[in-house]
Amino acid sequence: MRYELLLKNGHVIDPKNGVDEIRDVAIVDGKIADVTAGIPEDQAKQVIDVSNLLVTPGLVDIHTHMYATPGYKNAWAGDNSILPDGFSFRSGVTTMVDTGSAGCRTFEDFRMRVLDRFQTRTFAFVNIVGMGMVTNDVEQNISDMDVDITASVMKENADVVVGAKTAHYRGPEWISVDRTLAAGKAAGMPSMIDFGLFLKERPYYELVTERMAPGDITTHMFLGDVPWVRPDGKLFDYLYKARERGIIFDVGHGGGSFYWRNAVPAIAQGFFPDSISTDLHTKCMNDAMQDMTNVMSKLLVIGMPLNEVIRASTINPAHEIGHPEFGHLSVGAVADVACLNLLEGDFAYLDVRDGKFEGTQRLRAELTLLHGQVVWDWNARTGIDYRELGDTYGVRNQEDGLILPPEP
Ligand SMILES: [Zn+2]
Repeated sequence: MRYELLLKNGHVIDPKNGVDEIRDVAIVDGKIADVTAGIPEDQAKQVIDVSNLLVTPGLVDIHTHMYATPGYKNAWAGDNSILPDGFSFRSGVTTMVDTGSAGCRTFEDFRMRVLDRFQTRTFAFVNIVGMGMVTNDVEQNISDMDVDITASVMKENADVVVGAKTAHYRGPEWISVDRTLAAGKAAGMPSMIDFGLFLKERPYYELVTERMAPGDITTHMFLGDVPWVRPDGKLFDYLYKARERGIIFDVGHGGGSFYWRNAVPAIAQGFFPDSISTDLHTKCMNDAMQDMTNVMSKLLVIGMPLNEVIRASTINPAHEIGHPEFGHLSVGAVADVACLNLLEGDFAYLDVRDGKFEGTQRLRAELTLLHGQVVWDWNARTGIDYRELGDTYGVRNQEDGLILPPEP
């Protein structure tokens, strides 16, 4: 057999390679071996029919929370964190990036408890606050924002760290932003900025047009505080200026950062997110955000083209975190694959203030592969009719067989 696994007859969308048509995907040794139409079924050990599904690279979610700092009561940030495998594959996600749940003082513990422990490919941004994202108070602690130590922890853990992060800062100074950017620069990595409380002393337009550097990421782009639409209905020029500078716009939906008021006109005027991400934590997953495919569906129903939605959920975020080896289905690439069902029907979606938007499409993850292995199979596509499995399947002691009670 030439291949271990063959995904047959799916609609492959691989924006990096410009593929958008029906093709088969062959996998061997956990890697993509071939992506062409009409690969014979007898060349593969296992064939999975994925007709009517979109076959995309495994989704890359660059804004999640997977760490609870030990020893804190009422740590709203940490306590709402999730562990990756329970939430990744079921929504087509194969790579998850934690955004600043840990800082330089808690990073070792985070790495030991989470990053080195789960199947999901995990990376992390390091919080500029040494204790990380524990509570709002902890994230205001300027004396715990050490550029040099943060940068050195980032460099020491460069195999899993992808950048620096600040979040939820409420002071009128630029200090949390500037130190984060400095730590990122010192480590040679991008910074992701959650701008915290928006204040006139440090306006958002200045952040994205002057302070941040190309490759830095502004997350929560559709937050209610971000000015998007001018009185004449057009988008503000500073947004285009920031994009021209190479600033990355990331969704980071979360529990408070997605408003139709901003997202709808942005998409209508062609200002698409560079990356779609969830800001996954237990609060928003049970609210308007839900999961990666739900956030993708929201962008889709307001008019972002399907191909662009997939691009912003695969190759773009992989590039943003400096891991261009993920997020595509090139021959030789690791076989992280999502098979999505694009459902047609009457659907409705919430934003974070219960704003509702109705649409006719919804993406659902049906099959997820990590390194060529099936890790999520919503519709039993790998299954065998149980009647074909014989009378004693499931009996562990096949030598004695099923031990029967005496007949009366
Ligand atoms: Zn977050």
